[in-house]
Amino acid sequence: MLDIDKIRAEFPILTQKIQKKDLVYFDNAATSQKPKSVLSALAHYYEAINSNVHRGAHTLAAAATEAFEQTRLLAQAFMNAEHLEEIIFTRGTTEGINLVAASYGRTVLRPKDEVLVSMLEHHSNIVPWQLACQATGAVLKVIPIHADGSLDQEAYRNLLSNRTKIVAFNHVSNALGTVNPVKDMIKEAQAVGAVVLVDGAQAAPHFRINVQDLNADFYVFSAHKVYGPTGFGVLYGKKKWLEQMPPYMGGGEMIKEVSFERTTYNVLPYKFEAGTPNIADAVAFAESLRFVQQHGLENIAKHENELHDYAMQLLPKVKGFRAIGTAAQKVGVISFLVANTHHFDLGMMLDAQGVAVRTGHHCTQPLMRHLGIEGTVRASFAVYNTKREVEVFVEALEKCVKMLT
Ligand code: PLP
Repeated sequence: MLDIDKIRAEFPILTQKIQKKDLVYFDNAATSQKPKSVLSALAHYYEAINSNVHRGAHTLAAAATEAFEQTRLLAQAFMNAEHLEEIIFTRGTTEGINLVAASYGRTVLRPKDEVLVSMLEHHSNIVPWQLACQATGAVLKVIPIHADGSLDQEAYRNLLSNRTKIVAFNHVSNALGTVNPVKDMIKEAQAVGAVVLVDGAQAAPHFRINVQDLNADFYVFSAHKVYGPTGFGVLYGKKKWLEQMPPYMGGGEMIKEVSFERTTYNVLPYKFEAGTPNIADAVAFAESLRFVQQHGLENIAKHENELHDYAMQLLPKVKGFRAIGTAAQKVGVISFLVANTHHFDLGMMLDAQGVAVRTGHHCTQPLMRHLGIEGTVRASFAVYNTKREVEVFVEALEKCVKMLT
């Protein structure tokens, strides 16, 4: 059992008053808050360790390198990657997908090849593939969804063919919270010879990720949604692909030898880590990984699911409440609309009562268009949220709706 009061005490930001009310932070799918251990690690890094990594002859450079590489080891364990060099540090999910789309995608795609993405994707998992398709003459195809927001698996199987070279989908939808059956989907894509990228931005905060069990070719996530700092993330890629892929960016760190005539590249993972990396945030992220490990992702997910179920018990009593996305497999996210109120008005009015939710299209405009809506209100949960906060949120929502209707 998690001691939520004790966990909350680790998050200084949660004690704040917003608009003179206790903050209820239900915008965790956008970014989670950070525990003291992460904040202290960040300060400690700059106070005591700061130096550039790799190739330094002095003590601080060695300490910075050791701390930086420690995070790679923890990330490897977090994802259960077979090889350490399969863990590439990025600025986040977006950069990870762009790296694969530009380096792998543009190298392998030929005119009329097909790239499959799903209707549920974040713009980050659409636009990089569009760019790769535009550059190569490949065609982007879309896996449709059922009315409840689950992916249409039959349509998916029908879309797969020997023309399918890359398939990219999220593990969990950020807009609807749908959990996709990624293991089966990966197997089906690989059966036609396609390579699969999983966008794990919304899964990493809730599930134990096991890239070997999933047999994912690429798996990406951002640190800032897993109680970690912004501007940092991880790309897992199977060694056999990463070794074949050309560098994404050129610069320092990623080279073995440079001359004006010819450059040779560094070994993995450094071939894909050009320039001075985000050392401080990498070092601080180790503490986020320790935080989730200490509390246990299973316990965290169980607690969040209880909050979700409790909210879904209370919300229908709000007149005009309509859940958007009701798939059987869901996690941590409730997207909704209320009668004919505007999602943005609801968000502003909830904020006036101290409740932080996200409103809008959630970077999923094609999905919103498909659903015939402009956007939703989205409440999303993290380990530090409580049932009392769910009650405060529902009471606040009722008040807003009364004022607006
Ligand atoms: N993919 C999904 C499913 C997301 O939820 C997000 C962020 O909301 C992203 C990609 C982009 O993540 P980042 O902005 O951290 O790169």
